[in-house]
Amino acid sequence: MHRHVYAFGGGSSDGNATMKKTLGGKGANLAEMARIGLPVPPGFTITTEVCDHYYRNERTYPEGLWSEVDSALAALEEKTGKAFGDPAKPLLVSVRSGAAISMPGMMDTVLNLGLNKKVAAGLAKATGNERFVWDLFRRLVNMFGDVVMGVEHRHFEAELDEAKAAAKVRADTDLDAAALKRLTERYLAVYRDRTGEEFPSDPRVQLRKAIDAVFGSWETPRAVEYRRIYKISGLLGTAVNVQAMVYGNMGETSGTGVAFTRDPSTGENVFYGEFLMNAQGEDVVAGIRTPRPIAELETVMPECYRQLTEVRQTLERHYKDIQDLEFTIEGGRLFLLQTRSGKRTAFAAVKIAVDMVEEGTIDRSTALRRVEPDQLNQLLHPGFDPKVKRNPVAKGLAASPGAAVGKAVFTAADAVAWAARGEACVLVRAETSPEDIAGMNVAKGILTSRGGMTSHAAVVARGMGKPCVAGCGRLLIDEHAKTVGLEDGGVVFREGDYISIDGSTGEVMPGRIATIPPRLGGAVEKLLGWADETRRLGIRANADTPLDARRAREFGAQGIGLCRTEHMFFGEDRIPAVREMILASDEAGRRRALKDLLPMQRSDFEGIFEAMDGFPVTIRLLDPPLHEFLPMEPENQREMAERMGLPVEAVQKKVESLRELNPMLGHRGCRLGISFPEIYEMQVQAIAEAALAAAKKGVKVHPEIMHPLVGTKEEIRMMREMTDRIMHEVFAGSDRKVHYLVGTMIEVPRAALVADRIAEHAEFFSFGTNDLTQMTFGYSRDDAGSFLPGYLAKKVLPEDPFVSLDAEGVGQLVDLACKRGRSTRAKLKLGICGEHGGDPASIRFCHEVGLDYVSCSPFRVPIARLAAAHAALGTRADSGTA
Ligand code: ADP
Ligand code: MG
Ligand code: MG
Repeated sequence: MHRHVYAFGGGSSDGNATMKKTLGGKGANLAEMARIGLPVPPGFTITTEVCDHYYRNERTYPEGLWSEVDSALAALEEKTGKAFGDPAKPLLVSVRSGAAISMPGMMDTVLNLGLNKKVAAGLAKATGNERFVWDLFRRLVNMFGDVVMGVEHRHFEAELDEAKAAAKVRADTDLDAAALKRLTERYLAVYRDRTGEEFPSDPRVQLRKAIDAVFGSWETPRAVEYRRIYKISGLLGTAVNVQAMVYGNMGETSGTGVAFTRDPSTGENVFYGEFLMNAQGEDVVAGIRTPRPIAELETVMPECYRQLTEVRQTLERHYKDIQDLEFTIEGGRLFLLQTRSGKRTAFAAVKIAVDMVEEGTIDRSTALRRVEPDQLNQLLHPGFDPKVKRNPVAKGLAASPGAAVGKAVFTAADAVAWAARGEACVLVRAETSPEDIAGMNVAKGILTSRGGMTSHAAVVARGMGKPCVAGCGRLLIDEHAKTVGLEDGGVVFREGDYISIDGSTGEVMPGRIATIPPRLGGAVEKLLGWADETRRLGIRANADTPLDARRAREFGAQGIGLCRTEHMFFGEDRIPAVREMILASDEAGRRRALKDLLPMQRSDFEGIFEAMDGFPVTIRLLDPPLHEFLPMEPENQREMAERMGLPVEAVQKKVESLRELNPMLGHRGCRLGISFPEIYEMQVQAIAEAALAAAKKGVKVHPEIMHPLVGTKEEIRMMREMTDRIMHEVFAGSDRKVHYLVGTMIEVPRAALVADRIAEHAEFFSFGTNDLTQMTFGYSRDDAGSFLPGYLAKKVLPEDPFVSLDAEGVGQLVDLACKRGRSTRAKLKLGICGEHGGDPASIRFCHEVGLDYVSCSPFRVPIARLAAAHAALGTRADSGTA
């Protein structure tokens, strides 16, 4: 028979860490920890396959499941020496969810199952601790009511608040046995009122319903939303872990905590965590009381602390990665309840990966795989300008580094709505919960007044790479009035006001503080250096100005893959000359205008050659649709008429005659170069002269002249001939020459098809995948916004093809063009300069089809370097989210 249940702990485990797919991360790691001798309370795991079966078969279970569960429970009773529902020596269990990829806070846990009034009485007698027993019971009713029956937590919370008020105490730990007993009765009444039924007293019914609830929670909207945001797909479902309880709420020698084996924020090799004495389950992360830093455990319970630091080492040595662990201390005895690879900031990910190589724990390829290329984005985000004086109104915990500036919003829904209007916002909440995920995802940063370094807000923000200030207790956040005040009175800001938060220091400032671009740190440089040794693809940048070129070089670009010359035409001082060129009625008129443009272009090119000393620079000749230049405003038309000594009507008529229905498919690219050769001639002349001037200064120049929008062999033949002619004319007047290449963009589908012919005249191809995608799909990039989101929502397309290269369709054209091009010219240089050149999945594709380089925006260069290394390593990155 196919097996559905695996036992763990108590001396043996059926599963191990490699079985995440079937046991879920939590179950597999509980089994593994027990295997390596760590103290794990025993239990068993019901597989993810059962979840899969459940949803495939109208929410029913595979045959024989319950008898398997019964035997596992019997075995657990045997191991623990306790019995489920037996008042004399009761076994209580937790029911915990856990999928193969951890989704913190997404699935719900129920603790203390197996209690009823009889069992409670028995347990009170056995432990002599009545307070403890009622504390367990009220928690069970609360969690069971909430998770299994959907009774909102606030109904229980209200009773708790009332109980605390009646007893005149602030913390739940100050409630005595009698108060907790009364509270349990109140909870049972809430349960009855809200569900219309009695709380189930039969432990087996409790267990069965809790298991149903965990499987049921797999498809709740918030779980579905989480998987959507993190692009988690292809999982079977969640596993269910049933585990014997250990009690952190037995008194002052008991407690519970969470810890990371290193600092997940900075990556520093220090023990990092928090604990609460006399507490249970998620008390630490729920922000009910303020938890204490882990180091204080050394004074509270030295022996437990010593053991825990040993566990820290054992886990890291075993898993060879930073671990995020949960522990409970019951009467001075330490138990491990969970371990998983720790979520970390991008900075920490890089530092830990590099440190672990240097400690000899992992090799360089593993280190490279540990960092997702897109994570580097976080390191490329700005911080606050240190020169600006700050006046923080409050300081919370530095929960996730980085600077965020935006308008304050107080609900996740508002964050989503405001962001949709294009407003930068910072989500301000007392604390966050899984329902807030969508809002957190679109906010620039997150600010909370409650919760610690391991609160929901902090953990999720770090995972998302968003700045977060958590637990800023001085701020009184009123989510209804949508204001934030201070304890000592006064509102400091309200909805819509700008605030600036610094997730690296915890400071909260009103207003907008200037930010500065980031610098890569030593660890990042080291990792990227390893990436450079690993990758085969060259990395270039798309840069149009000397400044961009310099920045690209700082980020590690090895050349420019696309320099768009039209940017140089758009400058305010240049546009009249450009317009004159277009409006001129004859060649002589055009040449007059071009004479003004020549020196400007020449000096731009010279600057770029100098910035890229030693590296190739691909310059694309002019390719804007004409209408982008035409003077449309009457005022501009008058100005042009004056400049050219023409009547305004003549200018208007010319503008009219140049108007196109579909300019993106109109008179642009090399079509312009063929109709008006003098435009491209001027540009080539400027390139040649700039190259000579730079070379004369000792700069190593490698110009690559690129013709846009070529679709036929004749187009490139003519363009090639013109380019060579002008280059040689310029060289003829000088005592030196510069080596250059002539090539073409491949961005019209026809060009890909006849690439073998085109390669007769082109020395390189650069795939302009923006246009190629546009024309292959027949989607206008500028208009696709009206239907593309719907297409993505309805899964007509798996991904936006303008973001991630459509390997299936457009990719075929790229592949074909590479093969055909190289069949004519074996040494044909191949690259990509579309937006896709900075997208990790597309880079992988480029590696596989054998391109020589990718080119992307300067800020994405580090990402591309790492992505290219990943492509060369040939395996998917393990981001440490498992
Ligand atoms: P999550 O998936 O949200 O991390 P968990 O299943 O880890 O949820 O459970 C939530 C809390 O309950 C954790 O703090 C965990 O340590 C605690 N817990 C779970 N099972 C037990 C148990 N058998 N004994 C004591 N505490 C438990
Ligand atoms: Mg939880
Ligand atoms: Mg947990």
